[in-house]
Amino acid sequence: MTTTFVTCPLCEATCGLEVTSKGSDVVRIRGDREDPFSRGFICPKGSTLKHLHVDPDRLRAPVVRDGDDWREVSWDEAFAEVERLLMPVLEEHGRESLGLYLGNPNVHTMAGQLYVIPLVFAGGSKNIFSASTVDQMPKHVSSGLMWGDPLSFPLPDIDRTDYLLMLGADPYESNGSLCTAPDFPGRLEAIQARGGKVVVVDPRRSKTAEHADEHIAVVPGTDALLLCGIAHAIFDEGLDEVGRLAPHVTGVDEVREALEEFTPEAVAGPTGVEAGTIRQLARDLAAAPAGVVYGRIGNHTVEFGTLGAWAADVCNVLTGNLDRPGGAMFASPPYTRIPQGEPGGRGFATGRWTSRVKGHPEVRGELPVATLADEIETPGDGQIRAFLSVAGNPVRSCPNSERLDAAFAGLEAYIAVDPYINETTRHADVILPPPSALERSHYDFAFSANAVRRVAKYSPAVFTTDAPDEGEILARLVLLLMGAGLDADTDLVHDQVLDHFVDRELRDETSPIFGRDKDEIVAELTSLAPVERVIDLRLRTGSFGDGFGADPDGLTLTRLREKPHGIDYGPLVERFPAAICTESGKVELAPPSVIDDLERLRDTLARSANGTLRLVGRRQLRSNNSWMHNMSVLVKGEERCTLLVNPVDAAELRARGRVERARGVTGRKGDRARRSDRRHDEGSREPAPRLGSRRSANTDECGGRPPRREHQRTHR
Ligand code: SF4
Repeated sequence: MTTTFVTCPLCEATCGLEVTSKGSDVVRIRGDREDPFSRGFICPKGSTLKHLHVDPDRLRAPVVRDGDDWREVSWDEAFAEVERLLMPVLEEHGRESLGLYLGNPNVHTMAGQLYVIPLVFAGGSKNIFSASTVDQMPKHVSSGLMWGDPLSFPLPDIDRTDYLLMLGADPYESNGSLCTAPDFPGRLEAIQARGGKVVVVDPRRSKTAEHADEHIAVVPGTDALLLCGIAHAIFDEGLDEVGRLAPHVTGVDEVREALEEFTPEAVAGPTGVEAGTIRQLARDLAAAPAGVVYGRIGNHTVEFGTLGAWAADVCNVLTGNLDRPGGAMFASPPYTRIPQGEPGGRGFATGRWTSRVKGHPEVRGELPVATLADEIETPGDGQIRAFLSVAGNPVRSCPNSERLDAAFAGLEAYIAVDPYINETTRHADVILPPPSALERSHYDFAFSANAVRRVAKYSPAVFTTDAPDEGEILARLVLLLMGAGLDADTDLVHDQVLDHFVDRELRDETSPIFGRDKDEIVAELTSLAPVERVIDLRLRTGSFGDGFGADPDGLTLTRLREKPHGIDYGPLVERFPAAICTESGKVELAPPSVIDDLERLRDTLARSANGTLRLVGRRQLRSNNSWMHNMSVLVKGEERCTLLVNPVDAAELRARGRVERARGVTGRKGDRARRSDRRHDEGSREPAPRLGSRRSANTDECGGRPPRREHQRTHR
């Protein structure tokens, strides 16, 4: 029996797992009780890493399309097929004919963190898409505009807060998002246990709402209005007190003026929240010794997502809760250093280019995935004809599933890096499977950067494998896209990745290795595997690192390995003003593009809360985006692909149906078809849910291996 302690790579919570194995078998997976961050917590998904590992449907070798079927091939044959299919399309139609989709699992692997950027550069196309644009992109935008760093998310410091106002989040099901805090529910209950208050704003009485001290059932999609109403009340009642950061915040008066019409009384109608309640929320937030507003999916993936993301932080700033213990703080992962010196940087911009068909602006180098089908279907220069996906399942998880499904069927060449044949990759010509999560080492760079404590943890591989790791697969793709051919040495790419990080440290005056000899630094790393070299470099140059000799007792990868449960370096620390990266060096409370957009929001003040129904998504504990549905242990039991309707709405719909039938109206089917046609005609980006279908727009609805090759290709 061997016991290995690893970080669960399935969701943002990063729980510590204790994996017991015997030979090549997993005997047991349970929560690691000595993990200083998760303290033994595990959700039902964590133990299914075993089922994922042994799942017979998980690909162990590359497959290439062979007529209507798949054929297993060697890795060399697979890459030869990639080159044969992909390169002629790029040579004939140019680099913009390549589309690239990066799925959510990329942020849960070291390879995804380190090799995807070289892949994007090697591809040379601006047609880059990812799951971010149907998830958290509004928060990137508001953070970029307000403090100049789109990757610095203000995190609710839930272990120290006295008051948490949470919008559009259901951590009892999802365990938190843009906020890494294992056992999020337990941490919420700890707020209540120490006398604090948790308020949940959600259209639905979710499990999280049931456990809250107060649940406010807002009208779906109106969170931005509600937050503007709260901010207005903060000004109106003289509760604004920016505090320590006041000299470093600009735009307070512009925001006050811009929100003049968003009185609690004005937003009460469209949000469905009484003005008195809105004013009380403002008072409670301002009165709490430390309070925080935290919004997620329901506040972001909506019509006014960026305004909602911005308005949440306006409330945090105005009440002095930004970058304050117990308020909205910024992560300080141990592989980074606490910024020092004067604030200021290059700022943040969007729209450096736009999508070809509909002119949507890029953000962080990405185009909205909602327009991916347009870019594949619409003829002309720059039409996407070849595709590369690294993880993810956009056909199932992005808007307008059916249209994307048909669009993927029309691609001339499609290469997927994925362990499964799923609803998207079934259209591929070649699928390159990475090893299972138990066959690779891991350091969670991405989610340490959203964590509410400063924790370092290294996960060794539980099992070894002869198959190439994901970094090697991506490195070979990089070389092919660069035109280096099939025999090029992947060390070229691995070294380039390391060079990037080493050079950055050598140039940075705050780095402990600033100005040192590059060869000397690299020589200290050469005994390690490519990914581990980067982990070691970053740990050693981080806040607690040995600085390559500067602090002999400091952190190194070797020392971290000696602490299999990880090391907890304590709670978050203040980072502002030094971490402000805007051109002005100040927190920009009133970015012009945001203030301009308030005009559109103002128009919605006249919208009625009644008379329409809106479909909203929901999280489920035993589900993980658009995958994990091959795990019978997770999907068994009660049918969970259900539509929940408020009983009052259901009764009204039933009564309306009776009236329509009595009048001889043909029924809802015809209505749905007409609505669906209209959506298509208008080029709507919204999915058209098929209420009668179990396999429709619900991203959680794929109960097993999908049928292969259901669609004919039209452009081959
Ligand atoms: S909450 Fe997330 S990280 Fe923790 S065990 Fe479940 S899936 Fe894994």
